[in-house]
Amino acid sequence: MAIIPDQKDWTWVLERPCPECGFRAGKATPATAATMLPALLPRWQTALRRANIEERPDPGTWSVLEYGAHVSDVFEVFTARLELMLREDNPTFANWDQDQASIDGNYSSLDPEEVSSELIQNGLDAAAAYGAVPEEHWERRGLRSNGAEFTVVTLTGYFLHDVVHHLHDIDA
Ligand SMILES: [Zn+2]
Repeated sequence: MAIIPDQKDWTWVLERPCPECGFRAGKATPATAATMLPALLPRWQTALRRANIEERPDPGTWSVLEYGAHVSDVFEVFTARLELMLREDNPTFANWDQDQASIDGNYSSLDPEEVSSELIQNGLDAAAAYGAVPEEHWERRGLRSNGAEFTVVTLTGYFLHDVVHHLHDIDA
């Protein structure tokens, strides 16, 4: 059974604390990402060492392994989006279908150790990339393919929320 494609728009998390995970995305800056991401990575590492991480709690919910592979990709996608915003004026991001990515990337049959080491590396790369953005570039803009507009600052909050919220999803 496939997960139902999630078309939910999460941009509201920039306006108020997330009622599920409690994260205040509106307070985040690229400097937050630089310190917060390295601190969050060990929680992912520990979760990916659990037993039976390839099992879904129910057919419509990703397994810990799938969430880990997803977040590893999130690090890559949001680092690429940041680089695009710094390189081009008001770029539009390529659409990223997360559910299709999980199928194409074969998340459910990946090796947990490989997912874990890739997630750590991608997370550290993201922390370094966000940490290196000088403050005068924090208001540079980018558009999602659905028209939602981000600055470097709001993209950071949106991105960090994803990483924190999925730790909440897997109880880690
Ligand atoms: Zn949340």
